[in-house]
Amino acid sequence: MAYITVKEENLSPQTIQVLNTVLDIKEPPVARCRLLSKGIEPYHRLYLPEKVLVDGDRACIACGNCIDSCPVLRREPDRRARTVQRTSFALEVLVAEDCEQCYACVMSCPQVDTGIKDYVVEDRVVEVIPQKKGLKWLDNYFMVFVALIIGIVIGVFITW
Ligand code: SF4
Ligand code: SF4
Repeated sequence: MAYITVKEENLSPQTIQVLNTVLDIKEPPVARCRLLSKGIEPYHRLYLPEKVLVDGDRACIACGNCIDSCPVLRREPDRRARTVQRTSFALEVLVAEDCEQCYACVMSCPQVDTGIKDYVVEDRVVEVIPQKKGLKWLDNYFMVFVALIIGIVIGVFITW
């Protein structure tokens, strides 16, 4: 059964429709996912001087997480070195249509809602280690067998 958080349930059908369109485009999706999010909540801030209102701000905060997590840029340091900018705009310029739609940038962005990340994990992220139920069953029995052998060896060693 799929793991669904309360926040994912809050995604409206319209948001899911737009999100699917965004995720289908072969370009860095993080900025669009950010704009589909709710933005900074009052409790997200560690400190801000009074009278500076940033609640609901969905702007890129230039943390560079998306740049750091992109496999295209990690494989090609020369491409990454073309700019020192660490924003979603820089990611879009550097990667463009070479995006592999892994969604690592979406997952690493602090400005993207958890509900959107949950949706991406459940519906878009490819399982790299597919595990069939039969294999899992065998795994469990194999570990029990190994534990049994170790127990017997220890028992023999102690009584010897
Ligand atoms: S992290 Fe993945 S989805 Fe994001 S731009 Fe890079 S390749 Fe595309
Ligand atoms: S991860 Fe950081 S740099 Fe990238 S889009 Fe989100 S806020 Fe901007």
